[in-house]
Amino acid sequence: MKILILIFFFFSFTFTQSKDSNLFEENLDNINIDSNISLLKNETPLVEEVPSVEEITIPTTIKIPLTNEINEEEPEGKSVEDGDFSIPNIFRSLLISYPDVVTKVKKVDNPYHPDLAIRVRDKIFYNVQGRFLPEEERDHWKKYSSNTFYDYAKSIPDPLQRTKKEIQLMKKQGSKNYRKRKKSTYPGFNEALYGMKSLSDTNTQIIKARFLGKQVLVHQFSYKPLMKVQEEIYKLTNTHPEVVQFLREGDTVYSFFWRNIANSKGRSLHSYGIAVDVLKEGSTDAVYWLWRQNQKIDWIREPISVRWNPPLTVVEIFEKHGFVWGGKWNFYDTMHFEYRPDLLLLNGYEVIFVR
Ligand SMILES: [Zn+2]
Repeated sequence: MKILILIFFFFSFTFTQSKDSNLFEENLDNINIDSNISLLKNETPLVEEVPSVEEITIPTTIKIPLTNEINEEEPEGKSVEDGDFSIPNIFRSLLISYPDVVTKVKKVDNPYHPDLAIRVRDKIFYNVQGRFLPEEERDHWKKYSSNTFYDYAKSIPDPLQRTKKEIQLMKKQGSKNYRKRKKSTYPGFNEALYGMKSLSDTNTQIIKARFLGKQVLVHQFSYKPLMKVQEEIYKLTNTHPEVVQFLREGDTVYSFFWRNIANSKGRSLHSYGIAVDVLKEGSTDAVYWLWRQNQKIDWIREPISVRWNPPLTVVEIFEKHGFVWGGKWNFYDTMHFEYRPDLLLLNGYEVIFVR
């Protein structure tokens, strides 16, 4: 396939530094994990007419244009979550990002739900109003929120630039009640994508690795990219003192654990082993919005300067290899990195795949 810009044949594991080798024993119950929070803007149909599978060509460059070159005249209000991504582009980003398991996009000729479907492993998922659902769930789409594809910022959103209206909306979205009531996505899609329906599936999907001197458990999708990230971070230690400082500070690394997002019905991406937290232990800096909120701090209006952030050079390395950083979310989580190359592609980032 032509879809790879770069393939690293000579993938090497370099552990040029070693830190204290605490095993993976931390009390994970103390950690609240959140993923992005975003709302479906409306319920209008996303795509009026859909192309057949033959018309969907994988681009030769990895960058996906945000404009939809397939349907020139798409109706207003087709957004999925906060982003303005068309379903063909979303499916294309999934095909590129997970070619071993996402294998086919097809047109559905059902006049009731005329749209695209995608095959993930042995299951077909239909797009119904931005929800990716199996046949039997198509008529129950209102039970679920749409799959999560959102505008991933190029830089950290500045809290001081927020309008009153934005602040109000964030307050509402951050409230316990709202989060409890909020629908979650249909879990079967991620279960199929990551091949993990229950804890016992970890045997086939989760790999034990060492990352930044700690033992971590990661999904096989994110294992090689994570090792590449590590290699590049270590390379910077000769020239970038802030990276050395980061490695000193990031004294705890969390990865896989099977749990739901705090106060919500959704399963955290940590449950699939594609998220990694690098945490500065004992810090009083702002790391995670919910911890701030629980301390009754007006976190929405706090400037970025109160946060603990990894060096941007480190963030860029993660992004280059397909990880989004939680520090760019409005509901920030500065310790959190998760493997979402599909989302980065949709947002115009170039991603290097290690295969
Ligand atoms: Zn996390």
